[in-house]
Parts: sequence; C-alpha cells; structure tokens
Amino acid sequence: MSSEFDLIQSCFTWRHSSSTVIKGVGDDAAVVSVPDGKQLVVTTDTLISGVHFPVDTSAHAIGHKALAVNLSDLAAMGAEPAWFTLAISLPEEDKQWLDDFSLGMRALADQSGIVLIGGDTTRGPLSVTITAIGLVEPERLLLRSAAKHDDVIYVTGKLGDAAAGLAMLQGGYSGDKSEACINKLNYPLPRNAESFLIRDHVNACLDISDGFLADLGHILEASKVGALVDLAAIPLSVDLQQIDRQQALEYALQGGDDYELLFTVPVSLQAEFEQLIQHHGVLCYRVGTINQSLSGIVSTAGEPLEPAGYNHFSA
Ligand code: ADP
Ligand code: MG
Repeated sequence: MSSEFDLIQSCFTWRHSSSTVIKGVGDDAAVVSVPDGKQLVVTTDTLISGVHFPVDTSAHAIGHKALAVNLSDLAAMGAEPAWFTLAISLPEEDKQWLDDFSLGMRALADQSGIVLIGGDTTRGPLSVTITAIGLVEPERLLLRSAAKHDDVIYVTGKLGDAAAGLAMLQGGYSGDKSEACINKLNYPLPRNAESFLIRDHVNACLDISDGFLADLGHILEASKVGALVDLAAIPLSVDLQQIDRQQALEYALQGGDDYELLFTVPVSLQAEFEQLIQHHGVLCYRVGTINQSLSGIVSTAGEPLEPAGYNHFSA
C-alpha cells in the first residue's frame, strides 16, 4: 500500500514559480510572504458529494469545480489569486481517482496563477474543502455593501445554464440535453480576469452561487437599497432560449451555480466602463439599476421578484 505521504507527493506537490511561497507542501505548515501594500482576502468553500455535485461527477470535474468556486469568491472581492490549501476526505485510497482530481484542479490552478501550498488528506465520505487566499490593494477591494442609488447592475455572462444542466442530469428537463449546460455545471469558469478589468469601475460586487435574485438580494440588503430589474435583459444561452420562456427565466433567476459576477457601476462611469470592456472584448450584460426608494427587487413591469435561493438548512 502506498503511504499517504506518497500520495501527497505524487498528486499534490506541484511545481510553481511563485517567489511568495517560502515553504509549500511538505512541512508542518506553509509559509508565504505578503507583498507590501496588499491585504489578504481569505475564503473557504466545501464541496460534498451528493450535495454540491451529483455523486457520479468525474474526479476531474470535482477537482476543477472545488477550486473554481473559491477562485470565484476571490474574483468577487476584486482580489488576485495567490495561494490555496486543500483538505480532502476520501472513502478509500484511490490513486486513479486522485490523479484525475489533481489534473482537473491543476489545470485551473496553473491557468489562474494560484499556488497549492498545503492541505490535509483523510479517510471519510467524499468531501473537498479549499481555502483560497488572494491579494488586493485596500482601495480596490469590492464589497457587497457598496451599491449606490442609480448604479447600473451588470452580470458577466449568461445565467441559468448550470441549473438547467443539473435538471438534465436529474431527468427533470423539458428540452434536449445540452453538453454546454452540463459543462457549465461541472466546469464553471471563475471570472478572475474580468474582475481585474472591471474592479476600478465597480461599486458593489459578488459572485452568483445561490441564484441571481438571491445574490442580488445580498447586495441590496448589505447596501440598504432596492433594485429595478429588466427581465427582458436577463441574458440566456441559445439552449435556454429554446425552451419555455417561464422555465428558462426560472433557471436564470433562481438557479444556482452560475459563478458569474454580479456587480454595480456608478451611472457616471457607465459610458467609460462599457468602452473599457468593449475594448477588451469582454461581454457584460446590463440587467437593471439600483434604486434607493424601492424595497427589494422589482421588475420593470412593476412586479416584485422574490428569491427562492437554496438554503442548506431549510426543510
Ligand atoms: P501533519 O500530520 O504534520 O499535519 P500531513 O501528513 O497532514 O502533516 O501533511 C504533510 C504535508 O503535506 C503538509 O505540508 C501538508 O500541508 C501537505 N498536505 C497534506 N495533504 C495535502 C493535500 N491534500 N493537498 C496539499 N497538501 C497536502
Ligand atoms: Mg506535521
């Protein structure tokens, strides 16, 4: 039997070129140096088999997604990915599974420049916990609480595909199965590059994990404002445009796991912002405006929009 030590060596000791890592995997704890003038942004997310991904999800996809959701939180804060730790609990020692898992995770880590600096490997029901650490100049930090009256609300991509993908896997989808939707569920692409580009123009920001309405609700609550949302402007993929519109909107507004950024831009910066993203070939969709005299979310047709976000502790 290969020892736990060998497994860690072969699966989780990756080469990297970051000069900030003084001691990575291999000692009792990792040591990093923090560049002058930056603050640390720290986030943790756990993925549990059967709760956060279907039990038959591939190891490669689980490796990707566990890191992606944490990178997405750093993007939401305007932070640059720096380091992460990985705590994994596995029912049995399975070298092939760990190899695939580590390949999926590593591809995304290399792409985003985040370095694995340590972790823990234990036996138990399949669960993956990542703590990701990012760096940001204090004046660039993005918070949920910074939305202001008249801000324009944007999202970085089409909404609802991941929720539709989950329905396809669970057999409750009315349209044709689409690989693109299932891929969006299993391989969400965190918007770190977009976050870099937009952060100096943004007031409030978060990433959509619970669903558009639930997460917009978080910004409104933290910022003590309301919002007007134009349902006709909610961006839908080609796949969702082909199904019943009410059902498509349900996925887009209430479905989770999109990992798009939802953010607000002061109306005075709107033209400059739109020019900037166009210049860089980045698509963002304008979906509404912040309004301090409204309570909660209201459609342009005057109808209140209620989030039905997923709550792990509700019956
Ligand atoms: P200890 O018993 O001293 O806590 P471990 O045997 O748990 O040490 O871990 C040894 C080294 O391997 C540590 O540097 C730890 O951070 C790293 N490590 C363990 N598991 C993982 C993992 N899943 N991913 C990355 N590094 C890991
Ligand atoms: Mg030790």
